[in-house]
Amino acid sequence: MRVLVLDTSAFIMGFNPSGMGEVYTVEDVEKELIQGTTSDLRFQASKEKGGLRVREPSARSRKTVEGASGETGDRGQLSSADKSVVALALDLKESGEEPVIVSDDYAVQNLAEHLGLRYGSLANFGIAHKFRWIVYCPACHRRYSDGKECPVCGTDLRRRVLSKARVTKE
Ligand SMILES: [Zn+2]
Repeated sequence: MRVLVLDTSAFIMGFNPSGMGEVYTVEDVEKELIQGTTSDLRFQASKEKGGLRVREPSARSRKTVEGASGETGDRGQLSSADKSVVALALDLKESGEEPVIVSDDYAVQNLAEHLGLRYGSLANFGIAHKFRWIVYCPACHRRYSDGKECPVCGTDLRRRVLSKARVTKE
């Protein structure tokens, strides 16, 4: 059965998990969302209604992902939430599901590709880009839709271009 696994960019870009079948994410993604923002409120609401399942990946999958991120050279671009999302998709695949990672983040897509996991950008799910850029904190790796300074650790944020809409690898 096809299940969706959402990363932080999916929530920031406005993906609504309601009515999308089985949707998964990890706890670290919740930590990357700023409390009180639309993305955070949507996350909380879907979790409470039971549409969004928050799971932690196995240690084994985490290790596989850690190794793969070194091979693709994307390690510095990936937050711990990103790596957990990909590791959870690996777990789901091993348990017989057909996970599709929903992400507009090039580093996440690249890692998924490397591990033979399916992924789709938000455009594949009918969601237009709200932002062409995402800002991120180089110190704590949190992602934001906008801002100059990290509200969590105070570091100056950097901008990064998101991937162009790519076709789901199916
Ligand atoms: Zn920070």
